Amino acid sequence: MQVELQERPATARPLLAIDGLKAFYGGTEALHGISFSLPTGGITTLLGANGAGKTTTLRAICGMVRREGEVSFDGQAIGRLATEDIVRLGVAHVPEGRGTFTGLSVEENLKIATYGRRDRAHVKRDLDLVFTYFPRLKERIAQQAGTLSGGEQQMLAISRALMLGPRLMLLDEPSFGLAPLIVREIFHIMRRINEEAGVAMLLVEQNATLALELADTVYVLETGSIVMSGTADEMKNNEGIRRSYLGY
Ligand code: ATP
Repeated sequence: MQVELQERPATARPLLAIDGLKAFYGGTEALHGISFSLPTGGITTLLGANGAGKTTTLRAICGMVRREGEVSFDGQAIGRLATEDIVRLGVAHVPEGRGTFTGLSVEENLKIATYGRRDRAHVKRDLDLVFTYFPRLKERIAQQAGTLSGGEQQMLAISRALMLGPRLMLLDEPSFGLAPLIVREIFHIMRRINEEAGVAMLLVEQNATLALELADTVYVLETGSIVMSGTADEMKNNEGIRRSYLGY
């Protein structure tokens, strides 16, 4: 059953608009021309089984995989830009596996993230912001990232993304391998970052229950195509979604 999204007012330009996006690994097409959009300041989640194309969608948005189709961010075409230019416009990717530099300290990891930033004046402000969200990282500022707990490493990965001064965060499996309590804590902080700093989020998450608690809008991917979309509440009440993703 297709659950249609309610129409937004014509004035609300999407922050991210994707139209006919394809992605390729070598000669293999992993995304078959998907289209969707994200509002400014919202939280959207992609649901789908293993191999559906969720990670590939995030990679395609930030130019980390060969892609075709239209992607625009805040009205600007980014479908042909290099990853570093997309990042500079305000799109920060928190990859699967976190991507922290394990041999560097917490402070060095955070500073490295800011090297490409043009608005240097805001770096100190954003560092303070990171420490208000993640005071534990402040306590461990000199510690080598590889010696942090899994939860702290995920906090560091999100913090590195925050240090880019993003308007959109692409989050890939932030709960992966973490204990439920720490996952709760991290998701709570993600909501605060969204609400207080106005950072929009596109979340990929195996734990669909958590994803639907956090997100307001949902797209379901199956083998490289979007097969359903709706609000999180609509999805929670959809029998097919409940059976396939929520386990009841
Ligand atoms: P998962 O939850 O398992 O990460 P996913 O929905 O994120 O699943 P993707 O990782 O985006 O799925 O994979 C989509 C398709 O692309 C799959 O068929 C996968 O085998 C293929 N694929 C992903 N990464 C690569 C790669 N580096 N090289 C070749 N094929 C890949």
